[in-house]
Amino acid sequence: MGSRRWRWLWAGVLVLAVAGPAGVSGEAQRGGRAAPSGEAARINALKREAVADVDRLQKLTQEMVDSVFSFGELGFQESETSRYLTGILRGHGFTVREGVAGMPTAWVATWGSGRPVIALGSDIDGIPQSSQKPGVAYRDPIVDGAPGHGEGHNSGQAVNITAAIAIKRIMERERLPGTLVIWPGVAEELVAGKAYLVRDGVFADVDVCLFSHVASTMSVSWGAAGGTGLVSVEYAFRGQSAHSAGAPWRGRSALDAVELMNIGWNFRREHLRLQHRSHYVVRDGGDQPNVVPSTASVWYYFREITHPGIRELWAIGDTMAQAAAMMTGTELATTRVLGSAWPRHFNRPVAEAMHANITAVGLPQWSDADQTLAKAVQSGLGNEPKGLASEVAKLEGPVREEDNRGGGSDDIGDVSWVVPTVTLRFPSNIPDLPGHSWWDAIAMATPIAHKGATAGAKVQAMTLVDLLLRPELVEQAWRYFREEQTKDVKYEPLIRAEDRPATELNHDIMQRYRDAMRSFYYDPSRYATYLEQLGITYPTVQR
Ligand SMILES: [Zn+2]
Repeated sequence: MGSRRWRWLWAGVLVLAVAGPAGVSGEAQRGGRAAPSGEAARINALKREAVADVDRLQKLTQEMVDSVFSFGELGFQESETSRYLTGILRGHGFTVREGVAGMPTAWVATWGSGRPVIALGSDIDGIPQSSQKPGVAYRDPIVDGAPGHGEGHNSGQAVNITAAIAIKRIMERERLPGTLVIWPGVAEELVAGKAYLVRDGVFADVDVCLFSHVASTMSVSWGAAGGTGLVSVEYAFRGQSAHSAGAPWRGRSALDAVELMNIGWNFRREHLRLQHRSHYVVRDGGDQPNVVPSTASVWYYFREITHPGIRELWAIGDTMAQAAAMMTGTELATTRVLGSAWPRHFNRPVAEAMHANITAVGLPQWSDADQTLAKAVQSGLGNEPKGLASEVAKLEGPVREEDNRGGGSDDIGDVSWVVPTVTLRFPSNIPDLPGHSWWDAIAMATPIAHKGATAGAKVQAMTLVDLLLRPELVEQAWRYFREEQTKDVKYEPLIRAEDRPATELNHDIMQRYRDAMRSFYYDPSRYATYLEQLGITYPTVQR
């Protein structure tokens, strides 16, 4: 990727020389002391235009947020979502490659030509059992037991696609070189997709990646993020079946191995670092009690805040599994990696440029109805009913290792170690929610989510203007990436050569609910909003 990038940057230097030294000073960019002139004035004008365009696209943004919400698809089963989003992108002139990296629901949509190549990504999958009527502040599923958007991943592609459409118009008119690449985070809730996109070379030729993720305020950070990375591993044991009462001595229980592995792990847990997190579910515990289980499996997430820390936990897990097999006279049949995520590290120059845009855009104007819903949800959770966010977050720097107490993971981490990356967190949800639950779905097809996505799209579009017109920003991003971020730490994927995306995950759950869910898919040709289609008075705070 090096030589093409540097050729483009060299061309950028020539443009700058023509524009003059005052052209694009950071000072002028930040709306600071010097009056903008020349190139800076042009950049500001294009940003204003992009923001106005995003405002004009609000109807499309709302339709995307509501449609993806109504599909409510789990990881690796995002077929309706992908069909819908790629349809919109094709309609706007993007070329779409489907089935990327061995994942049927993964795709890459490309428009434009030349450098810079800017990738816009966001997750698209939902959470099990989080089906919930939007705008309703108490438990009221659309389809009982069905999955839903209990994290809010229905909103991020709307942010990116809206921004891309707005910027594409400007690029066409101004004849700006550059390539926009839009891609989905498939199965993020399983952290099971992005390492494969990286391995498949999706980012090999990308200059900068702007990721977006739902949040309850607007923020961006640089350096080592809080939280953890992880490896997600399934251990499958094989024993010997027998009549559990008639001849138990002839059997060897694979379930015993699972149980002893878990007991071993839970004793060891006390002696692991405080930063670690680990959890498991039993995927196969046998068929019925009177048959000694000949197969059983357990699925672990091993989380730590550094790559060596993750590998260390994984090795302990492997030892526990082998020991459990020895204790029970069973065999550790397979260990399979179902997902992985590197700890995240975000790019400083791009985060600084984005934060200036966040400050310029600010938060949406929340209505009384928005605040009433938010406060009812917060009260329902037993939290202080403080309502929606009232100010954007400060630019956050690196979280020091000694200050990182662990937490969740996101496989954008893998992307962040191969290309300068930042995550825009945009304000489409209510503060103080538990995460991964139906509570988190309540706001996600309401004006809160729509306005938050529009605000996010404005920031994304303004940052695209920066990246397209300030070649030195891309250069600074790579300097930070090479000279600071990856100086001592080199990316080594946690997925092994033999690992393949676990695309069968969630298939059966989705099969069970899809027909019932289909009758609730949003139809924008008949209803202004999904709330209207469902006949929900906004907000509904009491039964
Ligand atoms: Zn997420």
